[in-house]
Amino acid sequence: MKDKIKLRLEDPRFDNILVMLCPHCGQGNLHHIAVTMYNRLEEDGAATVCHSEIESKAGYSDTGTTAVITNHSKDNSNNPSLRRSGLRIALECEICETLSDFCLAQHKGQTHVWMEILEGKKYGY
Ligand SMILES: [Zn+2]
Repeated sequence: MKDKIKLRLEDPRFDNILVMLCPHCGQGNLHHIAVTMYNRLEEDGAATVCHSEIESKAGYSDTGTTAVITNHSKDNSNNPSLRRSGLRIALECEICETLSDFCLAQHKGQTHVWMEILEGKKYGY
């Protein structure tokens, strides 16, 4: 299991917008590059996995296209939620190039959020 890292946000003091900070270097230059959603119809049930990613490197190029992959393998191995539905947004830092996941998990009626650093791997699942 990857270490859960507290979500770090910066308040730029305009329009009620918060800036997500890199869990490694603390800078606010994160690019989202992929999204993976795990949907469970019932607690402890199998998940339907939907994955979408930008095909160009790290989302820097606005010419990139997206690929949407729906996987019905029911594989919950990367689901942030142990028993319910979860969501991962893969991020790459423009400054230090660290790959990380912004994670959301359903847990007993609450939505939990945290970051995980992805070490030694390209994005994708
Ligand atoms: Zn960084």
